[in-house]
Amino acid sequence: MPHCNKQMISFFLTTKCNLCCRYCYNAHERAQIKEQTLPLEIAKAGIDWYFAGNDSRHIRFYGPGEPTQEFDKLKAITAYAKASKNGGERVTTEIQTNGVFTEEVRAWVLDNLNIVWMSFDGMRDIQDYNRPLNPKYQAAFGGRTSAQVLEENVRWLIQNTNDRNLMVGARVTITDKNIDRQKEMVNYFYDLGIRYVWTNPLFYSVDKIPVCDDKVKRKLFSFDMDKYLDNYIAAYRYAKEKGLFWGSFLTVNFDGESAYHCRACTPMGAPHLTPDGYLSACDMVLMGTEAYHMEKLIYGKWNSQKRIFDIDAAKVAALRARSSDNIAHCKNCEARLHCGGYCLGEIVNETGELDGQKPIQCAAIKRLLKEIGTCEPYKYLHP
Ligand code: SF4
Ligand code: SF4
Ligand code: SF4
Repeated sequence: MPHCNKQMISFFLTTKCNLCCRYCYNAHERAQIKEQTLPLEIAKAGIDWYFAGNDSRHIRFYGPGEPTQEFDKLKAITAYAKASKNGGERVTTEIQTNGVFTEEVRAWVLDNLNIVWMSFDGMRDIQDYNRPLNPKYQAAFGGRTSAQVLEENVRWLIQNTNDRNLMVGARVTITDKNIDRQKEMVNYFYDLGIRYVWTNPLFYSVDKIPVCDDKVKRKLFSFDMDKYLDNYIAAYRYAKEKGLFWGSFLTVNFDGESAYHCRACTPMGAPHLTPDGYLSACDMVLMGTEAYHMEKLIYGKWNSQKRIFDIDAAKVAALRARSSDNIAHCKNCEARLHCGGYCLGEIVNETGELDGQKPIQCAAIKRLLKEIGTCEPYKYLHP
């Protein structure tokens, strides 16, 4: 099923985070603003509005920081959605979390969430290097490292799932630390009980200017795409034999056909509510007040006087027009219906334009399509 079929309302709960990941794509952005959390009133209005106009009853929690850091709000929003008269009993839930949370949180996760994507970079040495605990939070976890807490939470959730509708998977950022350890990671995750893993090549963080205008950032960034692909393909085949799904962000549309890359092109069916009360089309645009070059992906705002979401119809139309049918370099591409013009968030962040291109990613997608090909519908779509 094409990735744009992942329709849901996402809540970007809070800018607070208990980790200090080396590559955090928004750490700089978060450091420059006052800590903010999505007001409950806006979240509730978002649920009423979304359920009234859409068939999906899927709700999801994500950044800009770590959603479980606002545990009371996480619980309150979930309870409100589930109690909704408008189909609340059909509500399904998803979170992308760093997995470094307390026993109280994990007990609630077990009974209330259906899809849990752990941002998890593999074996302890990699996880603790890439995703260390913020020193301010070390005491709360008894001096354990982020890898130790995460492993324990994953094991506990999987061991206690029983007949609950719960899947605990991993969403792995690939950096030079784990790029050639993908097969080893397959074994590691398998032994923890994880069966679904999506890998994402490292991408540029979001700042105030597009990456094309930022020489320093470009100089500091490196990612060896050929090395990723060689190791990915070997790990994908190895994992398949073991009964583990090893996905790549570059193949999110290989299980269906669509000229759209993802939900960002169908924003009314998949809004993301930011902590400052805006509607974002994309996981990479987490705050609306000062979105700079990512502004193209902010298409609405909560109007507290009228108590409605004001929608910018021209922006919605521009996003809906962004497809591989309309982008000049995509029209004749053999991967057109299995790529959809690639990730808008990364493209806009790097080129400043909705129809920009990342040629290295294009070549990689075409290679993957040739070497591993299309597949049956994914059971768990990329977060
Ligand atoms: S857990 Fe997420 S928000 Fe927190 S530092 Fe890491 S990447 Fe950034
Ligand atoms: S980051 Fe890319 S894949 Fe994710 S919502 Fe944004 S455009 Fe879509
Ligand atoms: S691989 Fe490149 S050219 Fe082909 S559809 Fe995707 S973005 Fe367009």
